[in-house]
Amino acid sequence: MPSIRSTISQLQRDFPLYHFEPADEFWWSATKKTIYYDPKATDSLAFTLHELSHAVLDHEGYQRDIELLKLERDAWNYAKTTLSPLYGIGIKDDTIQDNLDTYRRWLHARSTCPECETTGIQSRGPVYRCLACGHRWQVNEARLCSLRRYSLQTK
Ligand SMILES: [Zn+2]
Ligand SMILES: [Zn+2]
Repeated sequence: MPSIRSTISQLQRDFPLYHFEPADEFWWSATKKTIYYDPKATDSLAFTLHELSHAVLDHEGYQRDIELLKLERDAWNYAKTTLSPLYGIGIKDDTIQDNLDTYRRWLHARSTCPECETTGIQSRGPVYRCLACGHRWQVNEARLCSLRRYSLQTK
């Protein structure tokens, strides 16, 4: 596997529209056109390609939580099928599934009614409604790829 430093400078040359900046976590800022990557993380290059995929696919945000899961899956697909062979960076299916699982758990926790544990529905924005008991609850906004900083206990 190529080194992080040489790969990042290669990516920077190949994608001059975006900035690549080391950070404590991986995320893509559509407003700053910047890919933040953690050079010390496990599978750092795989996740960097994942963030680059959000950029190339023009992911800017989402209206409903369920859409975030789709954006994450699309970004992994693009990273795996298009970018990974180009740069000789292997991306393991386990890495992808583990990462998507964090979104599935997040989605489940957010959509579960705090009163009766039925799965609620989200119309638009940060409010869920339970069809069983009528309870409404609000959730935090989460930006792409940085679920770790949000508590799941938003009830
Ligand atoms: Zn309920
Ligand atoms: Zn992502």
